[in-house]
Amino acid sequence: MRRLDILVLPGDHIGPEISAAALGVVEEARRLLDLPLEFRHAEIGHRSLERTGHTIPDSVEKAARSADGIILGPCDTYGYPPVDRGGVNPSARLRLSLDLYANIRPSRSIGGVPAVAPNVDLVIVRENTEGFYADRNMFAGAGEFMPTAEIALAVRKVTAHASRRIARAACDLAEKRRKKLTIVSKANVLKLSDGLFLREAQSVAAEYPDVAVEHILVDAMASHLVRSAQVFDVVVTTNMFGDILSNQAAELCGGLGLAGSLNAGDAHAMAQAAHGSAPDIAGQDRANPCALIFSVAMLLEWLARRHTEKALADAAALIDRATLEVLADPALRTPDLGGPLGTQAFAKQVSGRLAHLAATRP
Ligand code: ATP
Repeated sequence: MRRLDILVLPGDHIGPEISAAALGVVEEARRLLDLPLEFRHAEIGHRSLERTGHTIPDSVEKAARSADGIILGPCDTYGYPPVDRGGVNPSARLRLSLDLYANIRPSRSIGGVPAVAPNVDLVIVRENTEGFYADRNMFAGAGEFMPTAEIALAVRKVTAHASRRIARAACDLAEKRRKKLTIVSKANVLKLSDGLFLREAQSVAAEYPDVAVEHILVDAMASHLVRSAQVFDVVVTTNMFGDILSNQAAELCGGLGLAGSLNAGDAHAMAQAAHGSAPDIAGQDRANPCALIFSVAMLLEWLARRHTEKALADAAALIDRATLEVLADPALRTPDLGGPLGTQAFAKQVSGRLAHLAATRP
């Protein structure tokens, strides 16, 4: 098959460090399994702002549109200037312009890694294109505005179309997993917007007779996650609730440094760690690259399905397993997990493990 073009956008602060680490692992997988992948790099974020006046220039957006897959490092969105001075959030821009409507955020307890909640294996499927996100929920203008200096208003957008397609993505996933779907909303208070989301999600779920469906209010869900996260399988919810609950779930399972995620649409997909750019530890070779490594494995799995290419699925599974096996040894962890290894040394361990697994597989 033709070589798939992967665009790497390293991002800000710890972004270049964890991107280099994750790329080292996937390049090793390409070498070992002869994967049909080639990588292109482009600058976004602060470096791009300095050079071009934009955190995500049009040329990069165009390259992303033509790529087969994207690896996005975390961006310091909070530190960017306003949009009219070039400070666009690259993640939001790409999610919208490539219609990456499903943010798939798994959280699982990892053997041997200390975690508040053991035995968890759940996936939060978060709607990615509307909700309360002021930078993406309007055709023109922004979803937040101030009629006077003392009044701030925010608009929350929920559509039947977006609710149905995120529910479908969640049901498809639940069918492949433990066949349980939890719909999370605040439909008791947001009766129209979350009422619409709940109605549409339930109607899509009704097309999946094998999937057991429940509805839980978001405040109750925050408690359930702490008390009994192990009972959940696939959780579907709107944009901001999904953002918050997935961070909570990630912390329960060992920390943000382990939280991978995929932004997926029908035609494009983008690997992106669930955490931010962590300016407090940038440039110190201390960041945990696992979240981005797991995200890249998810991207390979998505590409394998889209292009019916088994080698990519094998690579995804091997990268996942190699990372888990390295994490199992406390002496091979990064400082956020109490270990002594730097970002690049950890990635080298994963590559070494990958080579071993590839050489010994049946
Ligand atoms: P941003 O403004 O880009 O969201 P932030 O620091 O506010 O950055 P996160 O980047 O999500 O938010 O980080 C929250 C905390 O978790 C920070 O103390 C950070 O150092 C830590 N952290 C996040 N990602 C990692 C990682 N990959 N490895 C180690 N620590 C991390």
